[in-house]
Amino acid sequence: MSAKTTQGQAKEHLPGVANIVAVASGKGGVGKSTTAVNLAVAMAQTGARVGLLDADIYGPSIPRMMGLAGYKPQIDYDTKTIHPLENYGVKTISIGYMIEDNQAMLWRGPMVAGALSQLLTDVAWGELDYLFVDMPPGTGDAQLTLTQKVPVTGAVLVTTPQDIALLDCRKGIEMFRKARVPALGIVENMSQFICPNCGHASAIFAEGGAERLSQEFKTEVLAHIPLDIKIREKADEGTPIVAAFPDSEQAKHYTALAGEV
Ligand code: ADP
Repeated sequence: MSAKTTQGQAKEHLPGVANIVAVASGKGGVGKSTTAVNLAVAMAQTGARVGLLDADIYGPSIPRMMGLAGYKPQIDYDTKTIHPLENYGVKTISIGYMIEDNQAMLWRGPMVAGALSQLLTDVAWGELDYLFVDMPPGTGDAQLTLTQKVPVTGAVLVTTPQDIALLDCRKGIEMFRKARVPALGIVENMSQFICPNCGHASAIFAEGGAERLSQEFKTEVLAHIPLDIKIREKADEGTPIVAAFPDSEQAKHYTALAGEV
């Protein structure tokens, strides 16, 4: 079976993978990887079979956030198969598992496309209900490769409420639209800052932007996730908040998000 891309190339179905969901953002640093990791682990906690592919070839952060930095996947060169690593019930693969920590990637577009294609098709995912793909920011080679190569069920767009991030998020939604990938909705990250001392909430990156964007594109705001020190600390430690404190207020945002996707 093969679906046709807008360019007329045949898309490859990944055997055993029911849904491919891109987690994307227009701008870097808005919390896309943090959202992807917590969403994937929260989804696995519901009993779903989940994979997480790090498509950020230049700046892979999944190995660290998944507590798997320094681990290497098993590669079977005869059958050209890469075996994903697993933690918190989520299978993951990243170029970061195959390079040294401080190794900068100086690759041109076609090499990025080639590496991502391999991560998509040569990994023995087994049976998955969801394969989340943590996209690099922007609308470049990785986005083209993903949307042209495999049938993507939908995209979750992550943004902060700031105008500049929203502007870039709009470009991201438009890009997926052109590639006929529906936007499943918007995650507004760093919605409010929760003071760790007094619990007071302040909208330091402004308010209401994600709602306006969702109305414009007739899509939904799937979650408002606060800027919270615990989320950052746990991401840095490699124990996502949903794995470390599944019953916490912070984790509930991601559990609810998993229910919306
Ligand atoms: P991106 O993937 O968009 O580049 P990251 O997920 O790497 O962004 O997040 C950037 C930084 O912000 C990281 O240090 C991360 O821990 C932190 N961060 C992301 N989301 C939150 C949040 N909701 N609360 C606190 N810190 C966050």
